[in-house]
Amino acid sequence: MILCHTVKELAQAVSQAKAEGNSIGFIPTMGALHEGHLSLVRAAQANQNFTIVSVFVNPLQFGEKDDFNSYPRTLGVDARLLTDAGVDVLFAPNLAEVFPADLDLAEPVPGSIAEKFEGEFRPGHFAGMLKVVSRLFDLVAPDYAYFGEKDAQQLALVKQMVSEQITAGRREPMRVVSCPTIRDEHGLALSSRNSRLSEAEILISRSLQQALLAGASAGKKREQILSAAKAQLSAEARLEYLELVDPQSFEVVEQLPAGGGLLIIAAWVGDVRLIDNLLIGG
Ligand code: AMP
Repeated sequence: MILCHTVKELAQAVSQAKAEGNSIGFIPTMGALHEGHLSLVRAAQANQNFTIVSVFVNPLQFGEKDDFNSYPRTLGVDARLLTDAGVDVLFAPNLAEVFPADLDLAEPVPGSIAEKFEGEFRPGHFAGMLKVVSRLFDLVAPDYAYFGEKDAQQLALVKQMVSEQITAGRREPMRVVSCPTIRDEHGLALSSRNSRLSEAEILISRSLQQALLAGASAGKKREQILSAAKAQLSAEARLEYLELVDPQSFEVVEQLPAGGGLLIIAAWVGDVRLIDNLLIGG
């Protein structure tokens, strides 16, 4: 695996891969890698013959300094995992490489989905996320990019941004591929932030998925679904939102739509903020 810290090193690796006729699969991450990230790597490797992973903790998408400062950083372990997984290039830049002072970057304008839920509780998060994803896509120029369904709003916004940029002639055609959420044996969605949970907090965290599952078998009406879900959520989890939405628009729905509804949840357990979602009734 080639480890690139600079844009110049990355550009060399990308142009060589393209000159050799490879199709590039790209997985942007913030590191502290787990099986969820590695499932995206495997999905890319099943379709492309050249895989690039980036590890960059993007300060622009953190509202709270504390969360940014305490975000786990494990680059040595990440590099070993990616080498073992057969990844071709790891791009691990610093802030000045990604956003040099003289960079003239057209900032993507997030669509209306960015104002709801995650966007409401984390102002500026999606604008910061899209800015870095767009910049990384400019640098890597992937044929395919892989994202997890765990971050459902992020996925919808990235798809929207890419499609708008391609239509505007600002980006070469590429595809954004969505991959299912990977969970531990107790159903807790894997997240880099889980490493900050105590054993007692892990038990509480499991109730997020239990809430989603209870909602999934509670009928077709929003009211029934939400109350069944709430009943399963640990009293020690501090709920930010629990809602039934249309999976495309993220508009609240009163009844399960024909193609299914997305039950979404965000809650704090201790000082860790967790999100999860489940497509129900599809
Ligand atoms: P992050 O490092 O948290 O920014 O995540 C990088 C990518 O991995 C994003 O596309 C996430 O949606 C995806 N991801 C994170 N956790 C999981 C998971 N448990 N299952 C599947 N994909 C995930």
